[in-house]
Amino acid sequence: MEVSKLVSRRFKETPADCQIQSQALMIRGGYIKAVGNGIYTLLPPAKRILRKIENIIREEMDAIDGQEVLFPVAMPASLWKESGRYDSIGSELLRFKDRSGGDMVLGMTHEEAAVHLARDVADSYAQYPFMIYQIQTKFRDEPRTRGGLIRVREFTMKDAYSFHTSQEDLEAYYRRCYDAYHRIFARVGLPHVVAVQSDSGMMGGKIAHEYMLLTEVGEDSIVLCPECGYRANMEAAPSLVRNEPTEPKPLTKLATPGVKTIEALCDFLQITPAQTCKAVVYQRNQDDGVVIAFLRGDLDVNETKLRNHLGYDIHPAAFPDGEAPLALGFCGPLGLPEGVAVVFDSSLQGLEDLVAGANEPDCHLAGLCLARDVGRIEYVDVAKARQGGVCPACGKAALDIRRGIEVGNIFQLGDKYTASMGMRYVDQDGSLKTPSWAAMASALAAWPPRSARFPGTSTAPSGPSPSRPGRCISAAYGPISRRWPRPVARCTASWRQGGWRCSWTTGP
Ligand SMILES: [Zn+2]
Repeated sequence: MEVSKLVSRRFKETPADCQIQSQALMIRGGYIKAVGNGIYTLLPPAKRILRKIENIIREEMDAIDGQEVLFPVAMPASLWKESGRYDSIGSELLRFKDRSGGDMVLGMTHEEAAVHLARDVADSYAQYPFMIYQIQTKFRDEPRTRGGLIRVREFTMKDAYSFHTSQEDLEAYYRRCYDAYHRIFARVGLPHVVAVQSDSGMMGGKIAHEYMLLTEVGEDSIVLCPECGYRANMEAAPSLVRNEPTEPKPLTKLATPGVKTIEALCDFLQITPAQTCKAVVYQRNQDDGVVIAFLRGDLDVNETKLRNHLGYDIHPAAFPDGEAPLALGFCGPLGLPEGVAVVFDSSLQGLEDLVAGANEPDCHLAGLCLARDVGRIEYVDVAKARQGGVCPACGKAALDIRRGIEVGNIFQLGDKYTASMGMRYVDQDGSLKTPSWAAMASALAAWPPRSARFPGTSTAPSGPSPSRPGRCISAAYGPISRRWPRPVARCTASWRQGGWRCSWTTGP
């Protein structure tokens, strides 16, 4: 094919609305064209690359005994009502009616479709274990799209679902998936992707890993320990704090006019943030009830851990003017109004001389000793790990916080959807049992933020998503080099018969 015939236009100038370099490179190079907010057409060069990435993923999935299927994009809502996700997922799930008035959804993941298939075809223990996967278009109505293909609304994802008759079998297979993902990322030219422990959140299950591409433009924070190799997503990383013993002092009330922040309080009293008790005020999504998280003043709340502890969703407090039920800026553990839910972070444990809000305007309390003044407290870990913090694996104060983009994840789902959707098989002894499953998802481009992901599944889906190659493309390759790694390169160009010709490279 002559290069001049290529349906792709390249630009010398960076388009004005480009937020990050990878996006600019893809638009300037004629790879993508925006059609709508977070929706892109992939031009021939990008489509070639995508196909090669897909083929690498297919080879690796087939190598761990995966069987490729293709679930529908549009599904009857009845399937999602059966699993309970039709109601539990927010507006990321696109719901619509067909011409006869039936409720429909556009698939954002395919756990329901996977169980719908598997429960009919695998009714005997002899058929287990097995894994099915697909490479399919997904749609998630993201509230905030970002950076070209970094976070999009429509994308291609490889999702896989494995089914097992025992936890041991599930774990053994999980390990094979874990390794297969590393091979995929190495083969597409991203050997520096790291796997980190992640929070499985509302997906359920105890064990989950995310594959992170470390880059400054990343939207996730990753906690790394250079001493022992510990790695975790910020959402899942424990925060360990060592408090030095202090002398208890009498509780006294101080006038602190207009002093509403920890910083202002420290300036006013000439103390350090670690000597204060910070109050972060939230409201329950359900009924706007007030929830306050107390933690040491130098730390921040990890909202994922807080949500997991509470078991319900929350948002930062927002009261109409003059209607706050609290003395905002002066909240503390003593003298709170009735009906306020409180959570104490473990960073406060053992502190006997704190400065905290007095729950009345322009006043703080000094000499607060939680054990003496508040009484029995159940401390929980709801703080963010921090730079230089204590490593939960080796105990050294060495934690390093880095930015990264999630390009894949795997998790163990147990029996969450298999049980709720009535999947059973006949075991060796003739009894009926519910299989456990695992899921893997991978996106090699853009990946939705965690909050929008899989609010509740019971298999182990996993997946590198090939169409989010945008993520990698932009994030990884772009800044480093404008040449594609050979296994995914789109074409080679040569001067033949008086003109440039391009040969699509085949492969992988
Ligand atoms: Zn460590």
